Amino acid sequence: MSISIENHRVDHRHFIGGERVDSPRSFLDISPIDESPLGEVAAADAAMVDRAVAAAQQAFPQWKNLTAEKRAGHLLRVAELIEGRIETLAQVETADNGSLLRSHRRGVMPRVAHNFRYFAEELMRLHHDDFITRDHVNKVSWEGSGVAGIITPWNAPLMLGSWRIAPALAAGCTVVFKPPEWAPLTASLLADVFAEANVPAGVFNVVQGIGSEAGAALAAHRGLRRMAFTGSVATARSIAVAAGQNLVPLSFELGGKSPFIVFADADLDRAVELAVGQYDNAGQVCLAGTRILVEQSIRAEFLENFVKRARTLRQGDPRDEAIDLGPQISRVHFDRVKGFVERAKESGLVCPLGGNPNQELGGLYFSPTLFLDPPASSEIWQSEVFGPVLTLSSFSSEAEAIALANDTDYGLAAVIITSDRSRAERVSQAIPAGIIWNNCFFVRDLRQPFGGNGLSGIGREGGHWSFDFYADLKCRVFAPDLA
Ligand code: NAD
Repeated sequence: MSISIENHRVDHRHFIGGERVDSPRSFLDISPIDESPLGEVAAADAAMVDRAVAAAQQAFPQWKNLTAEKRAGHLLRVAELIEGRIETLAQVETADNGSLLRSHRRGVMPRVAHNFRYFAEELMRLHHDDFITRDHVNKVSWEGSGVAGIITPWNAPLMLGSWRIAPALAAGCTVVFKPPEWAPLTASLLADVFAEANVPAGVFNVVQGIGSEAGAALAAHRGLRRMAFTGSVATARSIAVAAGQNLVPLSFELGGKSPFIVFADADLDRAVELAVGQYDNAGQVCLAGTRILVEQSIRAEFLENFVKRARTLRQGDPRDEAIDLGPQISRVHFDRVKGFVERAKESGLVCPLGGNPNQELGGLYFSPTLFLDPPASSEIWQSEVFGPVLTLSSFSSEAEAIALANDTDYGLAAVIITSDRSRAERVSQAIPAGIIWNNCFFVRDLRQPFGGNGLSGIGREGGHWSFDFYADLKCRVFAPDLA
């Protein structure tokens, strides 16, 4: 009844109403490290999704009406239990999605625990001042809205799941979570944590399964009151249509094609180091600055140093602490990335780095790749690859840098590297994206509003913005005799 990974046992079934539930159907989960099978995982159909939503509906009134202290207490217990099993979660996630074990151990899994801890604490801080209208008192409050459907991708499965699950539960919603079929296992371990933490049955449910079936059934379910989705634009479009039929409010965190702008006044070593860092997670990072824009006067030196530094990246088994870059998630995704690279090469673009699968390693390992000067009309300039593929273009003025940065339908993030504070101020003002990092990258704080513009998403989460989304806001007005 379970899958075994490095002596850790993972239940392959759904988790509904506090119990493990088997499915007549399953799908095969494959490790990207060596394409070996990890085991069969339950695959939900629409009836199973119905059952999970019903369990969440049943648990909702009691969960919503718990005091904030009690709800926060449950989430703090979940955080504590996660903290106690970081190593297990890290090993299972690495086997399942191929991201670096060292990142899971030291960054990602502690962050999963922090997601629960932070939103429990934020719930305790949630407050709106009363205000007076002609001696009438106005009281504003947040109330759990109902069942939240949560669907997330594989590039950081537990981290991205918990970033939605924690605030939804804190806000008083109950949750049906559909993890990604390419990396479903840590969601099952999270269900174990909820069971051990004695969170009331039905508050948190996991339905495993394929996106086009289990995911689509969840997105279209009439029992939802909120739908939070992280993933691709194409899937977001179909979820928007399905959830739109039920007028379910949406929070979408989607793809990116972010600019990484290096001005001539930048500290070159720092610029190169941060630029090479865009290959992190083998390029499977929504926030990555994949379009490097370099001021013409430093282009040659930047390019030479970048290629030299990128060649020192060590690619290989992500369980090895010395490795910087692992595999792509799946054969389908690997072929997609390869297709982008082959088409860019066929179009005649110069490729001074990579451009091929890693011949030595084989499997799903694709070498870090760089293309020079893609035309604005080209696929590689416009489309998100979601692999270790960057482009480099140059500009001659600040205005040209801004025009190139903004030549995209996405608006998730941007990176600006300069030693001029007023330039950082001007350029960051001129780029319409959710987050702009100046002389830094990936500084993430749960108090920040997070999300994207344009094709990069709908809405913002983080801090009180998460509560604004998952809760129904209520205003109660009391006449002077009741005030
Ligand atoms: P995807 O859209 O293919 O899948 C995401 C999830 O949606 C999976 O759980 C999948 O099972 C489910 N799904 C697939 N088809 C569905 C359908 N028809 N109805 C309902 N659910 C369905 O995306 P992916 O390839 O897993 O993830 C990569 C994408 O995610 C990239 O575009 C990346 O930029 C984006 N992403 C965004 C953020 C962010 O915070 N903005 C973070 C991580 C990843």
